Amino acid sequence: MTAELRSLSYWHDSLPEGDLDVPRPPLPGDTSVDIAIVGGGFTGLWTAYYLSQREPSARIAVIEKHVAGFGASGRNGGWASGLLPTSWDVVARASSREATLAWQRAANESVDEVGRVLTDEGIDGHFAKGGYLRVATSPLQWQRLNDELVESREWGQTEEDLVLLDRAAATARIHADGVFGGLYTPHCAAIHPARSVRGLAAAVEKRNVTIYEGTAATEIHPGTVITDRGTVHADVVVRALEGYTASLPQYRRDLVPIYSLMIATEPISDDVWRQIGWSDRETSNDDRRFLIYAQRTADGRIAMGGRGAPYHWGSRIDPAFEHPRGVHAALQRSLVQLFPALADVAVTHRWGGVLGVPRDWFPSVRFDQASGLASAGGYAGDGVTLTNLAGRTLADLITGTDSEITRHPWVGRQSRRFEPEPLRFVGINTGFRLAELVDRREELRGRPAKTLDRALHLLTGH
Ligand SMILES: Cc1cc2nc3c(=O)[nH]c(=O)nc-3n(C[C@H](O)[C@H](O)[C@H](O)COP(=O)(O)OP(=O)(O)OC[C@H]3O[C@@H](n4cnc5c(N)ncnc54)[C@H](O)[C@@H]3O)c2cc1C
Repeated sequence: MTAELRSLSYWHDSLPEGDLDVPRPPLPGDTSVDIAIVGGGFTGLWTAYYLSQREPSARIAVIEKHVAGFGASGRNGGWASGLLPTSWDVVARASSREATLAWQRAANESVDEVGRVLTDEGIDGHFAKGGYLRVATSPLQWQRLNDELVESREWGQTEEDLVLLDRAAATARIHADGVFGGLYTPHCAAIHPARSVRGLAAAVEKRNVTIYEGTAATEIHPGTVITDRGTVHADVVVRALEGYTASLPQYRRDLVPIYSLMIATEPISDDVWRQIGWSDRETSNDDRRFLIYAQRTADGRIAMGGRGAPYHWGSRIDPAFEHPRGVHAALQRSLVQLFPALADVAVTHRWGGVLGVPRDWFPSVRFDQASGLASAGGYAGDGVTLTNLAGRTLADLITGTDSEITRHPWVGRQSRRFEPEPLRFVGINTGFRLAELVDRREELRGRPAKTLDRALHLLTGH
């Protein structure tokens, strides 16, 4: 069991010795609590953390199918960023310019809140706030970064939020090959996700929260969670299942599980690091549609991820899908293309996990007072920090605390559900292929593939 859990990702494998040896006990049978939280990832645990502060006497239970941090929260790229998964224009259309900017500010501030809690709770999550550098590796990407800077200034973002770096300034930070320049924001930290989420689980346990591991919820209803180990009765039930949401039949079409794949290298020698730089542990990616993302880990490796895995029929999740042929190899090729000095550096870990994507890529935090049902999720690939904001928001909503964060545009938001199969399968996988095609065509022609790009936006809804 321990070896199996450690093999989930490089992050699980590099947890302190013994961390995964003894799972927490499962639910002992039918139980009553005040608040039941389904899912022991960042969403569930941040919610438990802030609720236990607001209501120290509340009986709070977290129900987790595997172990805390088993899902995306333990396996991700470790970017605690201020990024929102949808554009400001889309958010403003659903709310207002002021509300959009307030939400963005709150997301940026949440990066520091994550760091604060890790420090206060003595969690060694390798938090390093080195910012985020997005590099352009073609003239077209460079043009896009320039356009984005202009747009962000129109949105009132200042030099404190975003700066354009020319080639020399960008490569002085990270010496990647073929860089034309970059956009840099300080609103991002690199973390060790598994250490952070496992540490958070231990921190909530010190505060009157019980985590039941090895306990799978099968149905959620107002006042009850039915599990394979008994029924939990609760005044409030929080659904925090993200990429696993669709595995509960009643939520089959609410969020789709999309695989993201990662690799990690062996520790890189000081000599090679001197060539590459990257001394502030900035998180970094390039500007392709088909996202790749990377961080320098605290122990001197590069952990890099990307999309490329297909969506599976009926929103199926299977450990076999974490190792699709070709995607890990393609990631390694991208890595060496960006950093030729890594040609002989071994990749020691390859893994994948599911993130949850709503139909319009607009995440949500919801609480219905009458039924006591709450949920948060749909962060797509940007949940490491947003889960913190979601957890605080849910704690305020559930305890009836009137605060600014309960008024952000994602609160109470309901995305439309995905289409039934086969439309879902065809639509999502066509979107993936289109994204690849847009990248390839733009690379070949050196100009925006506008028609294809419009088709992609229409199809994906963001
Ligand atoms: C490879 C990868 C890289 C990523 N990189 C980044 C990044 O760099 N930055 C970023 O911001 N975001 C990133 N993300 C997304 C981010 O990790 C997620 O948005 C975030 O962790 C979601 O947290 P969560 O608690 O909502 O979901 P999860 O962490 O997935 O937690 C859900 C939990 O529910 C449990 N569960 C499942 N079924 C049941 C059931 N029936 N009953 C009880 N429990 C159940 C699971 O075991 C799991 O522990 C990445 C995701 C992946 C997969």
